[in-house]
Amino acid sequence: MGALRLILGDQLTPDIAALEGLDAARDVVLMAEVMGECTYVPHHKQKLVLVLSAMRHFAAELRARGVTVDYIRLDDPGNTGTLTGELARAIARHRPEGVVCAFPGEWRLLAAMRGWEESLGLPVEIREDARFLCTLPRFRRWAQGRRQWRMEFFYREMRRETGLLMDPDGPVGGQWNYDAENRRPLTPGLAAPPPRRPAPDAITGEVIDLVEARFPANFGTLEAFAWPVTATEAAAALDDFIATRLARFGDHQDAMATGEPILFHALVSTSLNLGLLSPRACCEAAEAAYRAGRAPLNAVEGFIRQILGWREYVRGLYWLKMPDYAALNALEATRPLPWSWWGGETRMNCLKQVVRQTRDLAYAHHIQRLMVTGNFALLAGLDPAQVNEWYMAVYADAFEWVELPNTHGMALHADGGMMASKPYAASGAYINRMSDYCRRCCYDVKAATGPDACPMNALYWDFIARHERRFTGNPRMAMPLQTLRKMAPEKRDALRAQAAAFLAGPEMRPEA
Ligand code: FAD
Ligand code: SF4
Repeated sequence: MGALRLILGDQLTPDIAALEGLDAARDVVLMAEVMGECTYVPHHKQKLVLVLSAMRHFAAELRARGVTVDYIRLDDPGNTGTLTGELARAIARHRPEGVVCAFPGEWRLLAAMRGWEESLGLPVEIREDARFLCTLPRFRRWAQGRRQWRMEFFYREMRRETGLLMDPDGPVGGQWNYDAENRRPLTPGLAAPPPRRPAPDAITGEVIDLVEARFPANFGTLEAFAWPVTATEAAAALDDFIATRLARFGDHQDAMATGEPILFHALVSTSLNLGLLSPRACCEAAEAAYRAGRAPLNAVEGFIRQILGWREYVRGLYWLKMPDYAALNALEATRPLPWSWWGGETRMNCLKQVVRQTRDLAYAHHIQRLMVTGNFALLAGLDPAQVNEWYMAVYADAFEWVELPNTHGMALHADGGMMASKPYAASGAYINRMSDYCRRCCYDVKAATGPDACPMNALYWDFIARHERRFTGNPRMAMPLQTLRKMAPEKRDALRAQAAAFLAGPEMRPEA
């Protein structure tokens, strides 16, 4: 035979580099469901169903095009449980001239791939993953020699290079960034149109049964499973977003509301990360809506910035800084994850809402991830390794190249500021401004001390005080530091005592 072409669970794109030049008469595509990938973090049940179902659909599509696919199911007899083991077995079966694969989405897999040539004893070609708008060498060139990296400057270069949302004389509308217009809370009475989501088909139904049987104790429920598992479903979900939610995406991007988990967000990250949708197609669809007068510029620019800016930026940063990046712990945070993060009781309504929604949907939008769980983890000094594992496990779109920089860098500031110029730390006032969570909470968001005081308030000041020395000199932290320094010593002591009592109390009981 010719080459054995390996396709991973997040490489479900017909023109992925691993399939380039495929000779349907001689080559075999290998796809394998393995226990090792299903268990290296305790994935949410919906994430397992999503990846396995999308893999099975993709294999069927390739076969329909005449490609020979050697597909190993999780329960197949003899399944070794690892990618390396399945590759070795496939090599023994097919005796290929070599293995061709595309660059993976996680460092640990790249490390494994780099060892294959030696351990398997045949040529292994690892091709660049061309599904991104910025190649890794291009990102490296951009980053080289810069003292500080900031997404905004990278994003502007990407706008110029791709031509997205550009006029001949500069950015459309004359401004690069409309973020200042994108921070509005939800207007009372404004309801978000419910997204049209695909119903599980027979293949997904079979995988749901498999996951319930093999992973009964994993976090999450499957009743609401409605993720796109094919490129056709993903394209329909994108169309639905563009037609019904994009116009308000900008205004209410940062808003949070009880019972409204999705609001005006796109729900495209799983499809983008698996390869069912291309980032360029998403950006072009949004730009076309703007040019046709169907969506305002602040919404379209905001959406394109997330994909062309943030998504590409975090990927570049991940591959530039790994593997050392994951071990950084600039704020020396060591506290274990509280049990409430896995569904245990908490009186904090913001946390309860986000964890409950995460359990039911394997989804929370950006501000929920950053300013509720992320902010709490930052303020309480939760151990970055445990927090990263949680984010990797519970979100259906979590793959390390995108999860780690967002959690470790943006939310936890564990990288000391490589990713963001200041920690995203906030008291309860921010959550109260951007959501209705505080109105339904046992705690009083206006109080910082006392039995019913919102824990976010004392934790915030305790965090600023704990890291006072480190943040001195950071102009973006000048305001809170100044307020802290003007505080009467008794008030400061009372806040720190309140924070210490909370951190020692029942809400922080570690997971069982
Ligand atoms: P929208 O809000 O509608 O945004 C559109 C798209 O923009 C997203 O689908 C995504 O592809 C992209 N995007 C937006 N923000 C980011 C960002 N900061 N980084 C990269 N891409 C972005 N995103 C993941 O895809 N996987 C993760 O594991 C992940 N973990 C995160 C962890 C934390 C702590 C934080 C703060 C953010 C994380 N994000 C992650 C980014 C973001 O929260 C999700 O991409 C987004 O919520 C997905 O929902 P959506 O498709 O409705 O996004
Ligand atoms: Fe969260 Fe505090 Fe608001 Fe309660 S009062 S929802 S704990 S921010």
